[in-house]
Amino acid sequence: MKTLLEQYATIVGNEVIDHLKQLANPLRGMKIIHINSTKEGGGVAEILNRLIPLKRELGIDAEWEVINGNSEFYQCTKKIHNALQGNREEISGNLYKAYEETNLQNYERLRSRLEEASIVFIHDPQPAPLLHYCSGRKGKWLWRCHIDVSHPFRPVWKYLRNYVEGYNASIWSLANFAQPLAHPLYLIPPSIDPLSKKNLELTDKEITGFLDEWNIDRSIPVITQVSRFDRFKDPIGVIQAFKLVRKYTPVQLVLAGGGATDDPEGTQVLGEVKEFAGSDPDIHILELPPDAHLLINALQRGSDIVLQKSLREGFGLTVTEAMWKRKPVIAGHTGGIRLQVINHYNGFLVNTPEGTALRVRYLLKHPDIIELMGKRAHQVVLDNFLITRQLQEYLTLVLALIYGSEDRIEIKMQATA
Ligand code: UDP
Repeated sequence: MKTLLEQYATIVGNEVIDHLKQLANPLRGMKIIHINSTKEGGGVAEILNRLIPLKRELGIDAEWEVINGNSEFYQCTKKIHNALQGNREEISGNLYKAYEETNLQNYERLRSRLEEASIVFIHDPQPAPLLHYCSGRKGKWLWRCHIDVSHPFRPVWKYLRNYVEGYNASIWSLANFAQPLAHPLYLIPPSIDPLSKKNLELTDKEITGFLDEWNIDRSIPVITQVSRFDRFKDPIGVIQAFKLVRKYTPVQLVLAGGGATDDPEGTQVLGEVKEFAGSDPDIHILELPPDAHLLINALQRGSDIVLQKSLREGFGLTVTEAMWKRKPVIAGHTGGIRLQVINHYNGFLVNTPEGTALRVRYLLKHPDIIELMGKRAHQVVLDNFLITRQLQEYLTLVLALIYGSEDRIEIKMQATA
């Protein structure tokens, strides 16, 4: 049985793996804790699920903890999330209180580990106040922000800034997502794992098997958007685009998504989407459990074109996943999508349902371009957005934080490696 690192070597090459071992060597045995607010659903959980075993295989004592709270806590954090992405949100004192108390309770539960850890990665706003309570900490704390805070609703950002200012550094997916802070800011885009169930190769028979189960007929073109049911993902705009395309050509739409446990709005948005779709037999709305990774993989592979018509997006891992599967992605001209989709080269960037429909029609008429763009999309992900690249950057950053004050950092291979 191959180790994880050996398996990655077959995709990214031995040099990349050797480099990871070199970077991890001075960090062997070190405790690094990642904290977020959900084990399942959403891009952060997706990455942590794979990053932690990989770090452990490199000899790092990596852990992943999830903070838990009641519904008031999640209502508050959802509002904070929406406000950071630019929505005007009024957040009551009671909700803020629930946010702070939940963080205090979680701090008490995790106290000894947080105090002892050499490095603590806090992901997104939900657990951000933990640092404030952890006055006895020994290690360095990093705030990893996955969302676009370029135009936040100011009162909410001001509130949150009080908590994030105290971190040793923060990490952002794109330069223009960040807000000025007194500590160093680093840029590290996220990544996908080519070996996860979500992304591993599937045979054509397996793909058809999954699609058959959901009555999706592969002989008619399939366009798909995989996303949580969230207004920023614009599922209604996707249906509008689909209806415009179908006036001219037979096509089916798949909207697949589940709720993240930290997203209380999902059910409401799903209701709105179902109502707008009506009883159209060519619109397949798939409500998925959080572990539907193979099905999502099959949907992305079995689609002719993948859509991600987000109005705001942090990075858009669904875009990366589809590109890895050699699909041209037609996606909202926003956020981290713009790092991945190079307009007219490996996909299209769009702003409206009409623009989306135009690009879908163009691609459906040109299967050769679908293939060419898909190939280019795969290469862009191979070169830039795999988990091995993200891990290299995380390890480099940790090394810099721990040994940065020294004249030189000795990075060498282990004798046995
Ligand atoms: N995802 C999933 N099930 C769903 C919807 C999404 O597993 O029902 C996955 C999707 O494949 C991707 C991640 O969740 O890996 C979503 O990340 P993205 O950056 O696209 O959006 P976010 O949900 O973090 O805003």
